[in-house]
Amino acid sequence: MCGSDAVRHFACAHGRRYGECGTCRLIHLAPEQRLSSAAERTEYATHSNDPADPGYRTFLGRVSIPLMRELAAGAEGLDYGSGPGPALSVMLQEQGFVVATYDPFFAPDEELLSRTYDFITCTETAEHFFHPEREFDRFDRMLRPGGWLAVMTELYIEEPAFEHWRYARERTHVCFYRPDTMSWLGKRYGWSVTNPHRNVFLFRQAEAESRPQQGPA
Ligand SMILES: [Zn+2]
Repeated sequence: MCGSDAVRHFACAHGRRYGECGTCRLIHLAPEQRLSSAAERTEYATHSNDPADPGYRTFLGRVSIPLMRELAAGAEGLDYGSGPGPALSVMLQEQGFVVATYDPFFAPDEELLSRTYDFITCTETAEHFFHPEREFDRFDRMLRPGGWLAVMTELYIEEPAFEHWRYARERTHVCFYRPDTMSWLGKRYGWSVTNPHRNVFLFRQAEAESRPQQGPA
């Protein structure tokens, strides 16, 4: 993710190979073992994300509740990776926020990616990124000064052993973050970082006057 070439073999699991970056500590599937777009789409279409399901609402509440505490009334946001059935956007809209949805397979309105937002939600999506560095660069561009990026993904924290970790079993999960990776992201973009739930990170874009100078990467 960080462009470092300090990538080393990390694990073999479920018949697949994973590397780990020695700098940002991202764990990622060997690129040649990723699914094709068509196979990915088929897989995602089977996911059920029903906003009427109370269990799913509780799950998304881990993100929406701490995020909403930080947002001004009527704040404008983007749900990035909304999937086949938007759920989090519906929950936020019910509370008076303005939320657009983007998904490369199910809501591919690229025009939305050239706008800016007060907040971006990225739930159960970052583990699917083929090019996380491009995705996080884009989040950085899309966030208004003082804006929030809410990421929910299951972090890898050494236990259980990677090859027994349920989250890595899913074939569309191609990258895995650690607490160190999240700290690294905060430093990389000058975002403040809070961690209101084990698997939820709220990043905050600096206010305009305190943005770090963006030099060449
Ligand atoms: Zn890296």
